[in-house]
Amino acid sequence: SADTPLTKEPADANANPPVDGSELIHLDHVTKRFGSNTVLDDLDFSVESGKHVTLIGPSGSGKTTILRLLMTLTKPDEGTITVDGEQLFPAPEKQIREIRKKIGMVFQQFNLFPNMTVLRNVTEAPVTVLGMPKDEAEARALELLDLVGLADKAGARPTQLSGGQQQRVAIARALAMRPQVLLLDEVTSALDPELVAGVLDVLRDIARTTDITMLCVTHEMNFARDISDQVLMFDAGKVIESGPPERIFGDPEHQRTREFLGAIL
Ligand code: ADP
Repeated sequence: SADTPLTKEPADANANPPVDGSELIHLDHVTKRFGSNTVLDDLDFSVESGKHVTLIGPSGSGKTTILRLLMTLTKPDEGTITVDGEQLFPAPEKQIREIRKKIGMVFQQFNLFPNMTVLRNVTEAPVTVLGMPKDEAEARALELLDLVGLADKAGARPTQLSGGQQQRVAIARALAMRPQVLLLDEVTSALDPELVAGVLDVLRDIARTTDITMLCVTHEMNFARDISDQVLMFDAGKVIESGPPERIFGDPEHQRTREFLGAIL
């Protein structure tokens, strides 16, 4: 209901709370090609419920393609992907819709509905897709706008907001669907530098205070270090090393990782 807290305690009974440590996302031998370009090469990895996993690596190494596969925006050529124990490809349309409800995504471009108020941007999908009563959706939306620091902008139009504020609305909009996992695709790359910190602070807060699983593509290495339980370093469609952020950033094993971090930090 609308007064269900977002925070860890007490547990949110409406959000299909994940069993801690269970596998929420699993990629098994996933290969994805575009023509002769092998973008993901026999990839295996999994994300446990409640964990924050960050994908790093050079541009073109396949990170965004993973998020797009999970959103069913594209299909693998080989291998299987499961979300919360249910296989994504192949799957009946109805099952795909159910799985997609468990996944929220925030893109580089915020893609807010320009003709709707901020509040309506956040309530639209819960009302139309989940059939949530309007009152409940609005109460919940206000709570989420408060979480992202924009309770006072509920009546504004997206064009009246800065890019950073728009991105914070996009985060609230994704959370309004009560997803089990939040996919974040370079959510600060399109922002003016002075607006980046505000968005990252909101995400740090969400990582700290909610149960949500996060799978995040970012070039913000300090942020990655702060929020991640695990960092996966990609190169040419493969995970070349993975581990806790202290290890990946503090003592990278692989020459490619050292070069990448050296270039970016
Ligand atoms: P990253 O997120 O690591 O920058 P991407 O997953 O976006 O990498 O892209 C990996 C590779 O896949 C790139 O070489 C890119 O050009 C290619 N690619 C991505 N989407 C398409 C597409 N729709 N058609 C053809 N090639 C694509």
